[in-house]
Amino acid sequence: MPEIIADYRSDTVTRPSQKMRQIMATAEVGDDVFADDPGVNHLEAYLAERAGKEAALFCASGTQSNLVALLAHCQRGDEYIVGQEAHTYKYEGGGAAVLGSIQPQPLDYEPDSTLDLLKVRAKLKADDVHFARSRLLCLENTRSGEVLPLGYHAKAAAFCTENKLVLHLDGARLFNAMVKQGVELEDISRHYDSVSLCISKGLGAPIGSLLVGSRALIDEARKWRKMLGGGMRQAGIIAAACEYALENNIPRLQDDHDNALRLAQGLAEIPGISCDASAVQTNMVFIIIDDETKVEPYKAYMAEQGIVLLGGQVMRLVTHLDINTEAIEKTLEFSRGFFA
Ligand SMILES: *Cc1c(COP(=O)(O)O)cnc(C)c1O
Repeated sequence: MPEIIADYRSDTVTRPSQKMRQIMATAEVGDDVFADDPGVNHLEAYLAERAGKEAALFCASGTQSNLVALLAHCQRGDEYIVGQEAHTYKYEGGGAAVLGSIQPQPLDYEPDSTLDLLKVRAKLKADDVHFARSRLLCLENTRSGEVLPLGYHAKAAAFCTENKLVLHLDGARLFNAMVKQGVELEDISRHYDSVSLCISKGLGAPIGSLLVGSRALIDEARKWRKMLGGGMRQAGIIAAACEYALENNIPRLQDDHDNALRLAQGLAEIPGISCDASAVQTNMVFIIIDDETKVEPYKAYMAEQGIVLLGGQVMRLVTHLDINTEAIEKTLEFSRGFFA
């Protein structure tokens, strides 16, 4: 195995830095199921405050955080409206339906990653014995690296109030949206009843996501988390990493965005690769390998150079804090070499 120069599969592949590991090693801990872990308590209070919410819940993953949100908001026989390609619908094993008896109503995304509220309205079900109860609207930001337009949040919130829905945001990469749009977390989160945030992606923590919302919602979500086996004990070790990530690694997401753009622009110039660099908004680059028979040889060649790619003819390349500008230049150099 060659030394890894860049692993583009996801921003989840980051390793904790030496500094982060040191902080983890010396973290004070307690049993979080007894609410005794000072690091977890501090992290929850810290992020709740940054999000302008009453409370937060530390979860093992973004999947768990989204799931406990849906379970806490909805009852058996309720319905949530969600994007067709949304993580909570497509990539979480159908958890809301499987474990919560919550029916999903998927809807196609618009080209700007919003859900058209008129189309959402057309899917809402009347109070009628035949129908599930429409209860929640779920949005995602960023989605495939795209940020939701800032003006959309308030519109979605007003729509939900008008239609007696609650509004949840899967904000696994919301920090990327914040940095891209130059706003604070609260500027976005205040429009939502709950927001799920991942610290284990571009921010570089090894484990950890949080759900933020009202005290009542978080109390309910905490019960569901325990039922799902997510009541962690001396979780302060990972909470310390998450708090370190939140304090140190948000502004540097701009580097990931700059690197993604540079990568896209470079790849777009290579005959054999199609890439719309103008579509890059945050840390994701999508490319198409024009000749399908070159897909596997390209991936294999790059892997030999220590560059890890994921996908088929369409590939998604994700930048993160373990990929620096030098690695981007090497990726371009090797790609040019392969397609020459
Ligand atoms: C990564 C991700 C999640 C959560 O994933 P986990 O691997 O469970 O932490 C949720 N939503 C979106 C959009 C994601 O990209």
